[in-house]
Amino acid sequence: MTARNFGTTGSVSAEQVTAGQVTLVGGGPGAAGLLTVAAVTALAQADVVLFDRLAPNDELALLAPRATLVDVGKRAGSHPVSQAGIEELMVEHALAGKRVVRLKGGDPYVFGRGSEEVLACHRNGIAVTVISGVTSAIAVPAAAGIPLTHRGISHAFTVISGHAPLTDNELEGLTLLGSTIVVLMGVGTLPTLSQGLMRHGMPADLPVAIIERGFSATQRTTVSTLAAVLSDAAAAGVRSPAVLVIGEVVRLAFSGDTAANDLVARAAEFTVTA
Ligand code: SAH
Repeated sequence: MTARNFGTTGSVSAEQVTAGQVTLVGGGPGAAGLLTVAAVTALAQADVVLFDRLAPNDELALLAPRATLVDVGKRAGSHPVSQAGIEELMVEHALAGKRVVRLKGGDPYVFGRGSEEVLACHRNGIAVTVISGVTSAIAVPAAAGIPLTHRGISHAFTVISGHAPLTDNELEGLTLLGSTIVVLMGVGTLPTLSQGLMRHGMPADLPVAIIERGFSATQRTTVSTLAAVLSDAAAAGVRSPAVLVIGEVVRLAFSGDTAANDLVARAAEFTVTA
């Protein structure tokens, strides 16, 4: 197979952001402490920052002092900019010679539509660079003291989107694999997921953790089992954004082990604001 050279897409460590270019920046799960050095550098040089709801927004004025800040995120009660609208804005500013940073929550390539934005740049002949971010899929469980792998307990994890219900094949595959399951955007489809996994043979007492608003002052973890998670989530009033972890590793965070407790304490230090 011949290697294909995509030319204008690259990854950087802490590179200059060039005028007339777009830099897609993974902002991590919301805590400024989890921004990479490359992300901080790109923000410091930006003329325009297009940011999302889950990006670390509170410190943006400080991190990007020379930039016009544009909120394109989805907020209850307001009208979000459509994906096509975001891509248009990005392209427009870049063609006007601006240093454009597209700041996204977590990692741009994990359910972030980052690749669509890269393609939009390519279609318009605009150079684009992608800076990876710390994904909520791993960091939010860690903030609750939950490791996704642990020798002898789980040697794999699967990150899935709960945006749409899983098919029977997918549910069966997850059950056979027996790995830790991490679900993003999964609050709405929790009923079909928990019932579906049990129908395919997952034990009813398998632990489930739901971590809401990771790295905020209101971070909250609800621990349950596959069989009880629906009623426990309803009783707690669980809401998005939340990361779900399904698997035996959930028990580790609540075993009173001091390493896990230290992790939780350190996660709290990263907390920015409510
Ligand atoms: N690209 C992002 C994920 C985007 S999908 C990443 O890599 O993290 C959006 C989903 O991510 C949310 O619905 C939620 O499931 C999860 N998420 C992102 N940030 C979160 C946070 N701080 N706390 C809890 N869940 C979060």
